[in-house]
Amino acid sequence: MGQEAERRRLAAQAQSVATVLLALGIFALDVLSPLQGAVAVLYTTVVLLATRAHSRELTLSAGFVCALLAVAGYFISHDGEALGSPAVRLAVSLVAIAITTLVSVRHQVAAEHRRLADQRYRAIFNAAGFPIWEGDWSQAFALLQGGRTPDAEAIDLAARTATICDANNAAAALFGLTRREELVGGTLLPFHTPAAEATLGRILAAMIAGETEIEEETRFVTAQGEPVDVLLRVTLPPQRKEWKQVLVMALDVTERNQTNARLAQAQAQLTHVSRITTLGQLAASIAHEVNQPLSALITYAKSGKRWLAREAPDAAEVSDCLDHVVSNGTRAADVIARIRALARRADPRQDAIDLGSLVAETVELLRRDLNTHDVTVAVTIPDELPPLVGDRVQMQQVLMNLMLNAEQAMAQVTPDARVLHVDVVSESGGVAVHVRDSGGGIAVEPESLFSPFFTTKADGMGMGLSICRSIIESHGGTLGAANHPEGGAVFSFRLPVAGQLESAA
Ligand code: ADP
Repeated sequence: MGQEAERRRLAAQAQSVATVLLALGIFALDVLSPLQGAVAVLYTTVVLLATRAHSRELTLSAGFVCALLAVAGYFISHDGEALGSPAVRLAVSLVAIAITTLVSVRHQVAAEHRRLADQRYRAIFNAAGFPIWEGDWSQAFALLQGGRTPDAEAIDLAARTATICDANNAAAALFGLTRREELVGGTLLPFHTPAAEATLGRILAAMIAGETEIEEETRFVTAQGEPVDVLLRVTLPPQRKEWKQVLVMALDVTERNQTNARLAQAQAQLTHVSRITTLGQLAASIAHEVNQPLSALITYAKSGKRWLAREAPDAAEVSDCLDHVVSNGTRAADVIARIRALARRADPRQDAIDLGSLVAETVELLRRDLNTHDVTVAVTIPDELPPLVGDRVQMQQVLMNLMLNAEQAMAQVTPDARVLHVDVVSESGGVAVHVRDSGGGIAVEPESLFSPFFTTKADGMGMGLSICRSIIESHGGTLGAANHPEGGAVFSFRLPVAGQLESAA
């Protein structure tokens, strides 16, 4: 570095000497030679040489000195002469020197501004608390300009040739390195994951399509082998063509993603606990539901035995009894299977859901509980419903919650006025379900019912509706509440049809 500075100092000195010698040379030529041309115009070369020192003052001084020399030359050669063509030549030379000086100074000012702007940019670049790097993707540009699609091979080539021209320390830290110099000059290939490859493919496709601001989330792996999730913002400066300067800013979202994952896990556990609580509320009903076929089963088994104990056993009757044993056994097993499905803890699934039959099944599950509370049920389900995709058990949980809430809301009204309407409606782009009761209605702002822990029940937890809403929203739908004009409350949810859910996700 010291040697380099010394070398530059010597070069500058040599140049100054050359400039002075040139000026003197021109002066000698002007005074001594019999040339009749405007020799003094040559001083402009001296001014141009002086600009190379990058100092405005020096350029101005050079211009001034050259003008003086030109005037001095004129007086030495033509002193005492009447004003004639030599004076005109002097005037032309002076104008040429002045213009050259002014243009050079303006040029220097502009260059200085550019240099300062670049310095500021570099300072921000390096001081930014978040990772930034600049890549030269010109080889990928050359490869893809021919209309080639960014296939696996092209992506691989782009990844291997996109060199990092500059990076700040935050960028180095992102990849588990200590100094930015470790990143500069290399590529990001050592930090790639399959996800990063796929992201690169999407970025290249977007760049080919002419986009200049691209945002993508992806995953890299650090030098230590730790996964790191980042949100990338890729910018193509408009003045830099051919992808020579691709600016990438990154935001480390690893922690956010981990928190989100933990949150989703906690939410799933809460949903599960709430479902088990609901099942607990239905314990008597469920026990009855299982008991009924079991009692029938015992009755048929006993009567089968009696038919067998006869002197002339009646095989046909026995077979009929056994059929009943089988069907009641199956019924009991079905109920238990449904309850087990509700009680199981599982990650959210993507089942094909027939909402009509799910509503019918849920009403059956609650039937006895509703009967016990003197609730009349009116269900309407259209014949044709578009297919839905989602978690069947979670959806049933929503239906159970809304129906049990309705049942509880009607405890205040006379038994013969307790009617629960469940209407499934096919709508454009989705399916809506309205669960309406004839209870006292909602006394507060309906939205507040969906806040966690909001409850008006002595033994309520206040989590049911909040969980229902997050289930419906995670399926791309909406859940709301309102008072019905004819009294009572109506809870409605809407879910998009299968195709739309996928495109919304
Ligand atoms: P919880 O049932 O434990 O109170 P929810 O989140 O299911 O929790 O319900 C919250 C509150 O919303 C209830 O306490 C009740 O005040 C109100 N609510 C729910 N359903 C109805 C309804 N059908 N009619 C009137 N109010 C309702």
